[in-house]
Amino acid sequence: MEKNGDPSHYLKPGEFESIKKFAENKKTPFLLINLKTVEEKYEELEKNLPYAKIYYAVKANPEPEVIKVLANKGSNFDVATVFEINSLLALGVAPERMSFGNTIKKEEDIAYAFEKGITLFATDSESDLMKIARQAPQAKVFFRLLSDGSGADWPLSRKFGAHPDVIFGLALKAKKLGLIPYGLSFHVGSQQRDIGQWDDAIAQCKYLFSSLEDADISLKMINLGGGFPSDYVQPTNSIEIYAKEITRFLKEDFGENMPQIIVEPGRSIVGDAGVIVSEVIMISRKSTANHYNWIYLDIGKFGGLIETIDESIKYPIFTDNQRQKQDLIEVILAGPTCDSMDIMYENYRYQMDKDLKEGDKVYILTAGAYTASYSSVCFNGIPPLQVYTTRL
Ligand SMILES: *Cc1c(COP(=O)(O)O)cnc(C)c1O
Repeated sequence: MEKNGDPSHYLKPGEFESIKKFAENKKTPFLLINLKTVEEKYEELEKNLPYAKIYYAVKANPEPEVIKVLANKGSNFDVATVFEINSLLALGVAPERMSFGNTIKKEEDIAYAFEKGITLFATDSESDLMKIARQAPQAKVFFRLLSDGSGADWPLSRKFGAHPDVIFGLALKAKKLGLIPYGLSFHVGSQQRDIGQWDDAIAQCKYLFSSLEDADISLKMINLGGGFPSDYVQPTNSIEIYAKEITRFLKEDFGENMPQIIVEPGRSIVGDAGVIVSEVIMISRKSTANHYNWIYLDIGKFGGLIETIDESIKYPIFTDNQRQKQDLIEVILAGPTCDSMDIMYENYRYQMDKDLKEGDKVYILTAGAYTASYSSVCFNGIPPLQVYTTRL
């Protein structure tokens, strides 16, 4: 069911050659971000969802050059902490273009965000709502609905959001507290391959819009979250199909009374734009009877590949060589650190060149999202993942 192993399935013509050239004489591992691809992914989403306001989810890749490129394109930003707020302010992003999307906030951080000029906040609990009311009077709040994340390769279930009955009560309370109950949000799970999940979530929004209308609260906005795909080993539909389907779901439920629509893409904007270049440190076999080589790379779970937990995200992985099927063998891929969980793929068998050698480069494609921002600071003394940007 998966795509054939060739870098040209994932990259633009000539891009793999340029990446190899860039990697010559560079110390590995590093992440190379193609800013042109970031722009193209942004434009593609904008074109397919022309009515939606885009809030890039900063956590996916907070690299300053990425933020600048998106800011120039007119993007808004979903921020989760005061640290993200500060780094965006330092890059000249206006606070009106930020939404505080984290539902888990310290009261002092809400105060800080509001003082800096942010007036749009996500919430999903009474405690958080009270903090917002105290520290950000008259701010707009949107309420996050629970979503179980099924169908997603990287679910965000349970931890965030609340049931519609709780949300209903929060909206009434927000109004009483002098806040503006502005809209609803959800996140159907990251790398969500089942587009139908948006249908269910939008139907819940419709139900709440109607019942709150009866209580004299007129919501204005729906935040469709992230979940849009990057191009990994397992196939997904195009953004165009996602957009068409989601638009159809919205029309079915809201007809002519379409609310304002926000999207918060992270992965789909930066995922395809990044390649991690790494190197084989060691190749070994555990027993003479064992069929599989263990390939140890100079990057692993702690260096940026944490989304290989449970082998959830399967990156397309290639080497310098042109590969013929008869020259490939199944391998186990592991990282360089002294922790036994630092194994990327053991059940799902990647195929790599039979004659792969220590010192050979290994290219991990579609690695622009949730890699550098997740890499550890000093585990085993290894520094955070080096990031370069380019235009290819
Ligand atoms: C992480 C996150 C996103 C981005 O999700 P992707 O699946 O990477 O697009 C969007 N919204 C919120 C609230 C998030 O926490």
